[in-house]
Amino acid sequence: MSLTETASSPAATTDVPQLGHWIDGALRASTSGRTAPVFNPATGAVQAEVGLADQAEIDEAIASAQRGFEAWSGYSIAKRQGVLFAFRELLNSRKGELAEIITREHGKVLSDAMGEILRGQEVVELATGFPHLIKGAFSENASNGIDVYSLKQPLGVVGVISPFNFPAMVPMWFFPIAIAAGNAVVLKPSEKDPSAALWLAELWKEAGLPDGVFTVLQGDKLAVDGLLTSPVVQSISFVGSTPIAQYIYETASKHGKRVQALGGAKNHMLVLPDADLDLVADQAVNAGYGAAGERCMAISVVLAVEPVADELIEKITERIGRLRIGNGAGTDGVEPDMGPLITDVHRDKVSSYVDIAEADGARVVVDGRGYTVDGHDDGFFFGPTLLDQVPTTSRAYTEEIFGPVLSVVRVASYDEGLDLINSGQFGNGTAIFTNDGGAARRFQNEVQVGMIGINVPIPVPVAYHSFGGWKQSLFGDAKAYGVHGFDFFTREKAVTSRWLDPATHGGINLGFPQN
Ligand code: NAD
Repeated sequence: MSLTETASSPAATTDVPQLGHWIDGALRASTSGRTAPVFNPATGAVQAEVGLADQAEIDEAIASAQRGFEAWSGYSIAKRQGVLFAFRELLNSRKGELAEIITREHGKVLSDAMGEILRGQEVVELATGFPHLIKGAFSENASNGIDVYSLKQPLGVVGVISPFNFPAMVPMWFFPIAIAAGNAVVLKPSEKDPSAALWLAELWKEAGLPDGVFTVLQGDKLAVDGLLTSPVVQSISFVGSTPIAQYIYETASKHGKRVQALGGAKNHMLVLPDADLDLVADQAVNAGYGAAGERCMAISVVLAVEPVADELIEKITERIGRLRIGNGAGTDGVEPDMGPLITDVHRDKVSSYVDIAEADGARVVVDGRGYTVDGHDDGFFFGPTLLDQVPTTSRAYTEEIFGPVLSVVRVASYDEGLDLINSGQFGNGTAIFTNDGGAARRFQNEVQVGMIGINVPIPVPVAYHSFGGWKQSLFGDAKAYGVHGFDFFTREKAVTSRWLDPATHGGINLGFPQN
C-alpha cells in the first residue's frame, strides 16, 4: 500500500513525499504549512516530510473520532470481535511490509522490527478475547428482590501519544484494547517515524473498522496539547521521556482526563559472583546494544559484584568485537546486528554522555564515538561503547543515555548493588543474574522497580500481564495492556435493580437503604 500517494501537501518545501493524517478512514494531506523531516537514519537522507497538525486539523480529527465512537460503541460484541479477528489475520499475514517501514524510518534491523510487531500482535490477540474481560459481574438477590450488577462501558474518544523507538508496538499496547472495548482512538505518533501508524490505519480499514474509530493525527507539541486540553478526549495514554510524561500527566489530569504516562528508564543488571559469566556477557550485549540501546527496557548499567568485573568486561569486550553494525535493512542480503541511531542530533547527545563519563573519571574500554559504516558516510551510526568504573555521581550514570552505551559499576556486595538501583530516579526494569534462588527471591521482594528479570535481561511482560515501571518511569496508576488496559479503557457502572410488586414494596421509609 502507498502511504503518500493521496497526501500531497501544499506545505512541501522539497520534492520528497509528503506524509499526512488519517482522518475519516482516508489519508488527508496536512494544510498547516508546518512540516518535519523524516530521515532514513542509515543513509542520513530526508526521505519524506510529515505534516504537523494545526488547530483546525486537530479539531477535525477529534470531531471525526467522536462520530466514529458514536457508531462503533453501538456495534454488538460479536461484530466488534469479528473486526478484531480480521485485523489480527491481516497483520499476521502482512507484517513483513510493516517491518520494512519501521526499519526504513527508525533504523533498527529488520528482525528486530519484526520482533516489535510480534509483541504488539500479542496484545491484538489478547484483545480478541475482550468479551470475557469487559463482561462485568452480577449478584442475584443481594437483598430481598434486589439484584446488583456492573457494566463496563467505553470512555469515548481516547488519545494515544507514542515515542519514536517502537512505532508499531507501543501504539499496539493501547489501541487494540481501546478499540475492542468500544472506544475511538486518536493516535499521535512520533514525528520521527510516522508511517507505521498510517499503515496500521489502512489495515484497520481493510479489517472493516468503521471510519473515525482509528485516527492518526501527525504533529508535535501543538497536536499533543490539542489532545490534552480537548473536552471531547476522555483519556490519554502516553509513552516517552520522563519530563514529557510528567507534563502529560499533570496537564491531562488538570483537564479531567484519565492518564497513563510511561516515562524513561535506566535499567540495571545485578551480577552476583556465582552467575554464569558467559551467559551474563551474552545477555548484557543483547540487552545493551539491541536496537542500538534505543529501548526503554535496554540494560544500560551492569552492576558487577566483585570479584567478577574484570572477567566480565573481558567477555563483553570480546563479544562486542564480533558485532556487525550497518544498515538495518541489510546489505547484500546480510542483516547486521545493530543499526544507526534515530537522528544525528541524538547521536551527538549520546556521544556527549561518553565525553562526560570520561571527564568524570570512567575508563572507556570500547569507544563508539566517531563510528562510520562503509558506504553510509552520512548515516547516524554510533559504535557499541563499554565504560568501566563509571562514578555514580556522573550524569552519564544518573541520566538516561538511550544509546549503545553500557556502563559497568563495580560493587562489593548484593546490598550495595541493591541500594544503587533503589536510589535511582527511575524504576522501569531490572535484572539479577545468579544461580542462587534465595538471592533472586530476596531481590524480587526488595527492589523498587516495576518489571524484574531473573536471569532474563529484558523482562517485558506478556500481553496478559501488564507493562509499567515505578517512580519516574510511570505517572498515573494504570499500566499498559493486560487487565490494567481493560480497566483503563472502560468506565464501570454499578446497577442496583428491583422489579416492584406489591409484596416487596416496603411503603414509605426515609431511612438509608439497608440489606
Ligand atoms: P519524547 O518524550 O521526546 O516523545 C514522545 C512523544 O511526545 C512524541 O510523540 C513527541 O512528539 C511528543 N513530544 C515531544 N516533546 C513534547 C513536548 N514538549 N510537549 C508535548 N509532546 C511532546 O520521547 P522519544 O524520544 O520519542 O522516545 C524515547 C523516550 O521514550 C525514552 O526516554 C524512553 O525511555 C521512553 N520510552 C519509555 C517506554 C516505557 O514503557 N516506559 C517505552 C518506550 C520509550
